[in-house]
Amino acid sequence: MDQSVAIIGGGPAGLMAAEVLSARGVKVAVYDSMPSLGRKFLMAGKSGLNLTHSEPFDQFVSRYGKRRAQIEPMLKRFGPDDLRQWAHGLGIETFVGTSGRVFPVGMKASPLLRAWLKRLSDSGVTFHLRHKWKGWLPDTSLHFESPDDSVAVKADAIVLALGGGSWPRLGSDGAWMRWLEQAGVRVEALKPSNCGFDVEWSPHFRERFEGHPIKPVSLSFGSFRQQGEFIITKEGVEGSLIYAASALLRDEIEAEGSAVMMLDLTPDRSYEWLAQRLSKPRGSRTMASHLEKRVGIKGVKAGLLREFISEEDFADMDRLAHFIKNLPIRLIATRPLEEAISSAGGVMFESLDEHLMIRSMPGVFCAGEMLDWEAPTGGYLITACMASGYVAGEGVLKWLGVS
Ligand SMILES: Cc1cc2nc3c(=O)[nH]c(=O)nc-3n(C[C@H](O)[C@H](O)[C@H](O)COP(=O)(O)OP(=O)(O)OC[C@H]3O[C@@H](n4cnc5c(N)ncnc54)[C@H](O)[C@@H]3O)c2cc1C
Repeated sequence: MDQSVAIIGGGPAGLMAAEVLSARGVKVAVYDSMPSLGRKFLMAGKSGLNLTHSEPFDQFVSRYGKRRAQIEPMLKRFGPDDLRQWAHGLGIETFVGTSGRVFPVGMKASPLLRAWLKRLSDSGVTFHLRHKWKGWLPDTSLHFESPDDSVAVKADAIVLALGGGSWPRLGSDGAWMRWLEQAGVRVEALKPSNCGFDVEWSPHFRERFEGHPIKPVSLSFGSFRQQGEFIITKEGVEGSLIYAASALLRDEIEAEGSAVMMLDLTPDRSYEWLAQRLSKPRGSRTMASHLEKRVGIKGVKAGLLREFISEEDFADMDRLAHFIKNLPIRLIATRPLEEAISSAGGVMFESLDEHLMIRSMPGVFCAGEMLDWEAPTGGYLITACMASGYVAGEGVLKWLGVS
């Protein structure tokens, strides 16, 4: 087949589009600015590659919040079960962890990526590394800068799979926003998602508790309530429980200037139990040892109470019990996009048709994290990136008339 497709971005989304196309005999060239492919995918594997989630489909699609309507049809084409089958097809078994999350056996991304790149290469996909896409030339060819030269590329169709804006040193720096905006495509500014937040810790608290985990703890914000854990950082808070609430907290900060999350430091104990235990005579014990002995609160949890409640409230056992169950913590800013696990914002779905082709640019498709959606951690990111790569690949086949 003579038709050629240029895929820009060799992360999970771009590589999945390459797979769909090359499997049908289409000539595919993948371009990437980095010296090797899939760097963020590999980084995701550093702490255990969470590929997808095993929960029921309806619950799974609810994780995409405001963008469920756009993501659900893609997951119906290539969903969590397909992703597991795909990994098995590459010789990598998967397993379901206790939380329902799905991981490859071995937890790492590198064996999966290696097998994937080999299969793509065997099916004729060519890889052009250190090629930074810089937009379009006046004659509409793609403009790349490589270490040796400026390169112009013509293709019958293009898939842009350039990633979001987090961890830019892994390759996805969001520079593509400029080229697409200039071409008249509607894009929403990139924002941190699954991110940490700044808290105005006192110097004493910061010095004493930086790096300490808070667990178990329950976090409430509006209708959000979840039990889990997080970490005290030099600047504030981060970790899985914070990430889970991060979209809501970020939007509140954007609207109101700050967000107050409520912590329940003893999610397994009631207020009544706490109040009754704390009201027992303290004798000659210090308050710290009373708290520890009567209700098991010590270390960083005791530090948080000291940090945020007044001396008077600390001396009143009913008030103290109340604050153990409802400790307000003010978040004053999101951590920068560079530090976030993923990004929200990107190419707006209004600019795309159902095959992810840019309506105003026939033959140009978009996939992956560069689209305007977000989801919590839990495997939802990689799954939707791959699903959108799959849909874009199928869209290109249709556009090229490959049946
Ligand atoms: C620390 C960390 C842990 C994570 N863990 C998980 C996890 O366990 N589970 C999960 O589901 N998700 C996880 N994620 C998120 C997940 O890795 C990303 O959502 C996913 O990789 C995005 O895929 P993508 O193909 O859209 O973009 P990317 O993987 O970012 O790939 C985009 C590619 O485009 C290239 N590119 C960008 N701009 C240009 C340009 N101008 N010219 C040429 N090439 C360009 C980049 O070099 C890159 O290779 C994690 C992310 C991080 C940072």
